[in-house]
Amino acid sequence: MITLKGKGAHGGVAIGRAVFFRRAQISVERRNVADVEGELSRFRSARERTAQELRRLYERALSDIGQSGAQIFEIHEMMLFDEDYNHLVENTIRVENVNAEYAISVAAEHFAKIFSSMGDPYMSARAADIKDVSRRLCKILSGAEDMGVSGKGIILCADDLAPGETMQLDKESILAFVTSEGSVNSHTAILARTMGIPAVVGVGERLMSLSDGTLLAVDSFCGEVYSDPDGETLSRLEKKRNEQKKAEELLEKYRGLDNVTLDGRRIDVFANIQTISEVGAAIKNDAGGIGLFRSEFLYIGRDMPPDEEEQFSAYRTVLSSMGNKKVVIRTLDIGADKQAPYLDLPKEENPALGMRGIRICLTNEELFRTQLRALFRASVFGKLCVMFPMITSVSEVDEILTVCRRVKNELVEEGHRVSDNIELGIMIETPAAVMISDKLAPLIDFFSIGTNDLGQYTLAIDRQNRSVDRFFDPHHEAVLRMIRIAVDNAHKNGKWIGICGELGADLSLTETFLRMGIDELSVSPSSILPLRDKIRNIDLEKENNEKSEDIYGFDK
Ligand code: PEP
Ligand code: MG
Repeated sequence: MITLKGKGAHGGVAIGRAVFFRRAQISVERRNVADVEGELSRFRSARERTAQELRRLYERALSDIGQSGAQIFEIHEMMLFDEDYNHLVENTIRVENVNAEYAISVAAEHFAKIFSSMGDPYMSARAADIKDVSRRLCKILSGAEDMGVSGKGIILCADDLAPGETMQLDKESILAFVTSEGSVNSHTAILARTMGIPAVVGVGERLMSLSDGTLLAVDSFCGEVYSDPDGETLSRLEKKRNEQKKAEELLEKYRGLDNVTLDGRRIDVFANIQTISEVGAAIKNDAGGIGLFRSEFLYIGRDMPPDEEEQFSAYRTVLSSMGNKKVVIRTLDIGADKQAPYLDLPKEENPALGMRGIRICLTNEELFRTQLRALFRASVFGKLCVMFPMITSVSEVDEILTVCRRVKNELVEEGHRVSDNIELGIMIETPAAVMISDKLAPLIDFFSIGTNDLGQYTLAIDRQNRSVDRFFDPHHEAVLRMIRIAVDNAHKNGKWIGICGELGADLSLTETFLRMGIDELSVSPSSILPLRDKIRNIDLEKENNEKSEDIYGFDK
């Protein structure tokens, strides 16, 4: 058994035989041409046919995976007609008296180099796009056809896959993608997420030494691919795959339905994610948005914090993958159980009560500003909501809003585009925030209740300490009363309020939350459809005998 390690672009488990993607062999040789005008018109008519092909791919992607996934083919068409690109191709043909294929390859190399040298992972991925457009042109000029792949239930392997190549594949026959190159920001990775096909990218050259028919087990949740897996690995992954299948069966029944009660009350159900690779699971499970992207996972398990460009690229990927759906990105919530040694935080007696969350950001402003710059720059790629964790006072929120204003102005002055519609919200996860939620609500756009920490701080129970587990009652009346207070104060101020802690997925409380007036529940992707099932069977007009509404100590 060989284990190949890459990056999971979209989580899932698949077991099947490897089939390698075969491209048409296009050799681009430099040839001198006597009829320059004829060569120019050869190029222009190939460009027309390429544009038609791209439009067909766009239409197909639009109906298969929607606007956000199809967009890439519009971008390719724009690249195809880009003035600078066309100028370089035509000029090379004219000045050097050479064939169109050669001139196209010169332009492709030139622009790919420019994109790659920008040092931004997103722009580097655009280098692959310009090469893809150019290859398509050359393929049309040479009349060659990709052989593609055949067979059912295959694991498609390739050095890399261009978006057009990905889109042309018969998705029904592919269990997973594995590529030796490629990044989680590539459009192929985004398309894999949108199509809901498990994908592991960047596993390295060793993949290409395997042959067609090799048995592969792919676990893209952890970015691992096993070739000729041993019995133990195989049965472990089979178990994981069966669990995934069961969840998918449930998914089919509820896909596309509204989260609406029998008496017509609607509620948003969003997804909690930790990494970009989970966006696909969110989309596949029909999430109405991302209600909590725990951005600290970008900072964990490394020697240095991610810089502005790396963060920008990650946030842009999530925002553009979600199209026009809300994406709530929580700013760095490090500390307590989530550590980043390079921050040199002092060892603390009570880490849960120490330097964590917003306290670190307000103490290390550079760290905070870098993240805000990346977030605000990414805001033009979707519907961004920024959320701040561990709030306990009005003055913290005032300070945050001042930094946000400053960072926004600075970006605009530098010539960056920043959306005018970014929502700023806070987590309600400390008793202090609940008790002053009437004062906090006017300052922000939304609240999201972190019941994991709210339970910990309200009940004085360390969420990391197993020995006090038996004293922990997640349904404690004190916690439920707090939620009710926060809901009432949010609504009195015309703000929306959600729950993104684990309690949001507790089906025994769904009716209670709906009766309280919660507007949104954000849960792990796999909990979305069970929650939808629950919501669709609740009738709020029916008297609720089990839990009378004044159990939380408030009259309506
Ligand atoms: C919470 O506290 O409920 C929450 C969602 O945040 P985390 O679990 O990441 O602390
Ligand atoms: Mg929390």
